[in-house]
Amino acid sequence: MTAPLLDVDGLATGYGDIRVVWDVSFQVFPGKVTALLGRNGSGKTTSLRAVAGLNPVRGGRIGYDGQRIDRMAAHKRVKAGISYVQEGKRVFRQQTVDDNLRLGGYSLGVRRSALDADCDRVYELFPVLREKRRHPAGSLSGGQQQMLAIGQAIMARPRLLMLDEPSGGLAPSIVAEVMSRVAALKESGLAILLVEQAVEAAVEVADHVTVLDIGKVTLSSPVDRIDDLDRLKDVCMGRV
Ligand code: ATP
Repeated sequence: MTAPLLDVDGLATGYGDIRVVWDVSFQVFPGKVTALLGRNGSGKTTSLRAVAGLNPVRGGRIGYDGQRIDRMAAHKRVKAGISYVQEGKRVFRQQTVDDNLRLGGYSLGVRRSALDADCDRVYELFPVLREKRRHPAGSLSGGQQQMLAIGQAIMARPRLLMLDEPSGGLAPSIVAEVMSRVAALKESGLAILLVEQAVEAAVEVADHVTVLDIGKVTLSSPVDRIDDLDRLKDVCMGRV
């Protein structure tokens, strides 16, 4: 069996002394999507932030590519291939689409020709961004900005991509489009950790789901063993 790229084991984390996640475990494999589900405030974002190095690990361990990274600085995790797309489509609204992408690749310190090739790869994945490449990012629709935020993260050449609610605030047809791009990214071999409120959209693309409630895991299952979506939704809402 393939080794997980990300192996979170018994994670406890929070904000300063405030503990909001206790004993959370999940894994993400190359070419697979693990979805972290659960109602508002259940600790999904806090867990992602701990993997990104933005929240302290107070218990348990975070393994990445066979090494423990609990104490690695956030910028070193980016260099090691961990990219994090925060909730709310954080793009530089005044800058063009093309400049936003180039900024995403900036930390690599690669030559211009390599940046061009990386941009081309993003444009192949999101053709609508190529059409809008000279437009300010602020003029894009919500879905396009979400695609740009993902494109920006891909410019850092990640091996692990963490997406925090990419469906947030988008119409259902656009959510389906974004998820189809997430599926294409997993096909390319990326390991993807997806935080979602949109349970139906998440299970379309996920291989494994882990549900959190009040900072603890209430369900962990391969998607192909979930035969009752309504029950999964109930678990996600903390109703069972
Ligand atoms: P949502 O979908 O609403 O983002 P979530 O599952 O991602 O939910 P978190 O954002 O991880 O939940 O929040 C978990 C808990 O941590 C909540 O009780 C929240 O109030 C608390 N929290 C979030 N940010 C902070 C912060 N900066 N300082 C202190 N507590 C925080």
